[in-house]
Amino acid sequence: MKLYNTLSGKIEEFKPMASPFVTFYSCGPTVYDYTHIGHIRTFIYNDLLKRVLLHDGYKVNHVMNVTDVGHLSGDDDSGVDKMEKGAKKYKKTVWEVAQFYTDFFLKTIDAVNILRPTTLCKATDHIGEMIDIIIKLQEKKYTYETGEAIYFDVLKFPTYGKLSHQKMEEKLKGAREEVHIDAEKKHPADFALWFKRVGRFANHTMYWPSPWGDGFPGWHIECSAMSMKFLGKTIDIHTGGIDHIPVHHENEIAQSECANGVPFVHYWMHFYFLLVDGKKMSKSLGNFFTIDDLIKKKVDPLALRYLFLQSHYRQTMNFTWGSVQAAGEALKKLKQIVAQLKNEASDNNNNDPRADIFEKRFNDAINQDLQTPQAIAIMWEILKSDLVAQEKLKLLFSFDEVLGLKLSDIKKLSFPKEILILAEKRKQAKANKDFAASDTIRKQIEEKGYVIEDSKDGYTIKLQ
Ligand SMILES: [Zn+2]
Repeated sequence: MKLYNTLSGKIEEFKPMASPFVTFYSCGPTVYDYTHIGHIRTFIYNDLLKRVLLHDGYKVNHVMNVTDVGHLSGDDDSGVDKMEKGAKKYKKTVWEVAQFYTDFFLKTIDAVNILRPTTLCKATDHIGEMIDIIIKLQEKKYTYETGEAIYFDVLKFPTYGKLSHQKMEEKLKGAREEVHIDAEKKHPADFALWFKRVGRFANHTMYWPSPWGDGFPGWHIECSAMSMKFLGKTIDIHTGGIDHIPVHHENEIAQSECANGVPFVHYWMHFYFLLVDGKKMSKSLGNFFTIDDLIKKKVDPLALRYLFLQSHYRQTMNFTWGSVQAAGEALKKLKQIVAQLKNEASDNNNNDPRADIFEKRFNDAINQDLQTPQAIAIMWEILKSDLVAQEKLKLLFSFDEVLGLKLSDIKKLSFPKEILILAEKRKQAKANKDFAASDTIRKQIEEKGYVIEDSKDGYTIKLQ
């Protein structure tokens, strides 16, 4: 399998540390608001990667975190805590907000047939582990303390910036104007490991005791803590949205590698953004859509999955309602064809060598840095080919382990009784050599939207 590794900036052959086992961590949702279609795109690509690994025979241990504390509205420690903001807005406790949006997240991933992670872990359940890492970093002198926080001192980690391929000077220039500046902070790229419950956070409702007083963790430390706890100090793959590269993931690397003295991640993969009608999604633009909006518009949630599979994960994609409706139509057609094939398939075991070639092409596409648009094109090529029904289905069901379109759930076609009666009448007319009558009945069947085809053993009915 070949994957694009953000760390090297190259497509590399994937070699797990302890094949067939793969350790895989994905940055998960911040549960202060609804999971929207942009998040869904990221989670679908996580799922796709996992399904390809499973399809290739790997055993995948997949961990995803749920951020229910400490994610400020600016990734650079500026702004307010997203959870506390959500709680105020909806007049709920932070715990209620977290539960509500975690449930919505789970409902969303189930609707688009994303396999649940092996472990889905909450930041608030791992405060102790985070404190342990901060103590370790403090002992190794990678931190400093100000009146309001414990910071990681980025200048003590010479390779800081290696993931985004930015030099420290560029980082300095690029650092955006912070809404809040801690006057005691030494370098703009230094990031908080622990916030004290003082000053702007004095009324914070989520807090824990620590060696630095009551407070709460910075956002970045949770991923290092949970990745280490469930997967070990060095892992095979870590994924997230491309927005995580310059701050969140650089910080995860810095704190993990300084605490443990070993590389944190071998393969970093990042999924590109989704635009809606050419614009970045935001509540103020009214282009912030969730799975509920799809259902309201009678769009099958799996149509969204199909739509995302048609674009490569390293391409910015533009969502329009027209595009998801077209994907819905294509998916409907695909399901009809599968139902039809189930009617036609016999138990005969053909071993058509062309089927092996199709299978190899499909596997090559998905193993070439997850080329799903190609994989889908190959699937349609098979459907249009003259392979027998059972061969087509065998390939399709195997591909669907990766695509996740629930093709094996599709039932055989069932035809209305009147069509079945007409078909039998036609058979009788043909047996009586009354070809005029048989022709008339065939036309009647066609008028009702079906086609009848004669076969060796009698006939097959199809949808027009
Ligand atoms: Zn993370």
